[in-house]
Amino acid sequence: MSTPFPVNGYVLVLNCGSSSLKFSVTDPATGDVALSGIGDALGQTEPSVSWKLGGERFSHPLPEGARNSDAIRFLVEEILQPADDLYQRIIAIGHRVVHGGEKFSESVRIDESVIRAIRDCVALAPLHNPAHLLGIEAAAAAFPHLPQVAVFDTAFHQTMPQHAYIYALPYALYREHGIRRYGMHGTSHRFVTGRAAELLDIPAQKINIISAHLGNGASITAIANGKSVDTSMGLTPLEGLVMGTRSGDVDPGLLMHLGARMDYCLKEINDLLNKQSGLLGISELSNDCRTLEAASSEGHRGAQLALDIFCYRLSKYIAAYHGVLSRVDGVVFTGGIGENSALIREKVLAQLCGLGYRLDTGANAQMRFGAEGPIHSSTDGLQDRPVLVIPTNEEWVIARDAARLVSAEESL
Ligand code: ADP
Repeated sequence: MSTPFPVNGYVLVLNCGSSSLKFSVTDPATGDVALSGIGDALGQTEPSVSWKLGGERFSHPLPEGARNSDAIRFLVEEILQPADDLYQRIIAIGHRVVHGGEKFSESVRIDESVIRAIRDCVALAPLHNPAHLLGIEAAAAAFPHLPQVAVFDTAFHQTMPQHAYIYALPYALYREHGIRRYGMHGTSHRFVTGRAAELLDIPAQKINIISAHLGNGASITAIANGKSVDTSMGLTPLEGLVMGTRSGDVDPGLLMHLGARMDYCLKEINDLLNKQSGLLGISELSNDCRTLEAASSEGHRGAQLALDIFCYRLSKYIAAYHGVLSRVDGVVFTGGIGENSALIREKVLAQLCGLGYRLDTGANAQMRFGAEGPIHSSTDGLQDRPVLVIPTNEEWVIARDAARLVSAEESL
């Protein structure tokens, strides 16, 4: 990340969700964050904006029912314009967009055709893409003079080969309805791939890694020669690993069983699999890994089982991706759990000892709160299996992509 950067200035990074707006003003050259904040509970009874600027924290309520566009207006008029130095230095707006379908394999400058294409993907991300579109519209109105860029969560996975992304369903479902595996968290997997290449001193176009992004949502990606070749999330973010409240992989026969034998309707099945399952469902306590670790150490059986299943299933994916990649240069842990939980990393690597993974317990304990580095042991003369903890930084990727696209167009 130390190459000279083509432009001076900041990028306003926006992540517009259905009831939240995350924002930051990020220096694309260094990743430094001048302003960060969140608009919360948007569209609900007590929406508010909180932010951090110049080392100080602030919070302000918004009127009842205030939406994304209101939060963006507040951001511009009450936060950015009073900080005029910062405001004047913003050169572009970078939007996180969850789904770009097959149309986008990289970030793009937003124009009418891009807006249409994001709209075409609404069926694939019905909660996220409409919110992004509203955010793009509101940002264009608030910053008519600034270029806007879309950075897609799915883009990094567009390099997956057909055998990894086609489901074993009638092919017409793919051909006619785009039903296939798309993957998510691409911006994070791309970021840690670049950092791993630097840390392991391997050219970015040659590195093979397995990247585990473990947050409330969790996914794992096999990366060959710097490109995604398989990933655990599919048509939707539900497939793959056990997550905070999502089940991850289940037998699809379960859906028929719930519907035909237990009278669940589609909405109930959706809520069950997306909101009531995963760590929360198993533990009957919490979706939060910290809470489960604390409860587990006090003997809570549900918490212990939830953590065991989470780690076991993750280990199985890592082992499977050894079969996908011809060589594994390293495994990367990232996301809130991956970056902070020594216990989860220890349990996963213990399960993988048959593949030669060995943990450096001391190094593992140190890796939290933004620390970066290796946690594998190379003391016993076996071939090293590097394992790295790398804090992800999706905002920085978005800022870099936006600045690069803007400067590339300026130099035409
Ligand atoms: P999101 O997907 O919402 O961005 P994060 O990447 O912030 O989520 O990850 C949230 C998860 O990280 C939660 O389960 C939280 O408990 C876990 N986490 C954060 N800090 C720690 C920690 N010190 N130890 C264990 N888990 C942690």
